[in-house]
Amino acid sequence: MIAALDIGGTKIAAGLVDRTGRVVAAAQCPTRSEQGFDDGTQRIVRLIRDLQQRTGKRIEGIGIGCTGPVDPRSGTIGNAELLRGWWGAPLAERLAHEFDVSAAMENDADAVALSESIWGSGRNAQCLVCVAIGTGIGAGVVCNGDLYRGADGGHPEIGHMVLEFGAGPKCYCGLTGCWESLASGPALEAWYADGAESVSAAEICRRARAGESRAVRAVERLGRYVGLGLVNVVTMYCPDVVLLSGGVMRDAGLFLDDIRRMVHELATQVPTNRLRIDVADLAGEAGLQGAAAVWLHRFAPKETRF
Ligand SMILES: [Zn+2]
Repeated sequence: MIAALDIGGTKIAAGLVDRTGRVVAAAQCPTRSEQGFDDGTQRIVRLIRDLQQRTGKRIEGIGIGCTGPVDPRSGTIGNAELLRGWWGAPLAERLAHEFDVSAAMENDADAVALSESIWGSGRNAQCLVCVAIGTGIGAGVVCNGDLYRGADGGHPEIGHMVLEFGAGPKCYCGLTGCWESLASGPALEAWYADGAESVSAAEICRRARAGESRAVRAVERLGRYVGLGLVNVVTMYCPDVVLLSGGVMRDAGLFLDDIRRMVHELATQVPTNRLRIDVADLAGEAGLQGAAAVWLHRFAPKETRF
């Protein structure tokens, strides 16, 4: 069994995942990073020990998917806005020591891309790009079975590429008109509300289905920006598979065909005849499966994975 940890700004999910990607048991606790790293690790250790006791299973390693920037080489947490109090914390090392097994950590979007490449509908892809569109936009790229990394293990922040510099909304990253500020769930909600009381993205999609004209326009606009961002992503990475996930994609039926058409029409400089754009199929337990995939990708040779 692989002990899997999916660490977000508000909650930590822990699970035991087998080598076929099946989540055997799961539990969660609040993140509360402001209470400090020692407090956090104690709660994480307790979660994993409880899962072991409950199932009677032995763990062979620990995989972690964590929000925000992380250093995958040292397994330390970066200065994620959502994880104040844990900056620079050597989580992988601490847990490896505690349980006497190997441990690895990646950014959570990279973790999900790895699990899609091992168990999901990206498993036969040569170049897989997974894009999660929800509260923000995050992406992971797996090429020929390996995670794309930049300098110093850096993770590309595709969600902050600029589509409307100067004209678009201001983003916390410092830019205006980046992809996340135009095509995330909050971006859809802000455009629809236009200063009035906010309505959830899911409700806007429901209203669009019912034919309300402002909601229809809001969803069309969202689809256009999701599509435009994907045109750039496809032009830059030449993937054969793009998998979309995240809260906004629960309503993908409203705009998926438009996105596909847009990418095939506008990404003219790269081969797109084999390109497949789909909604990710691991969506339900993607976080825990992603975390388990992080450990497998790092420590288990491909031929021993299944
Ligand atoms: Zn931004």
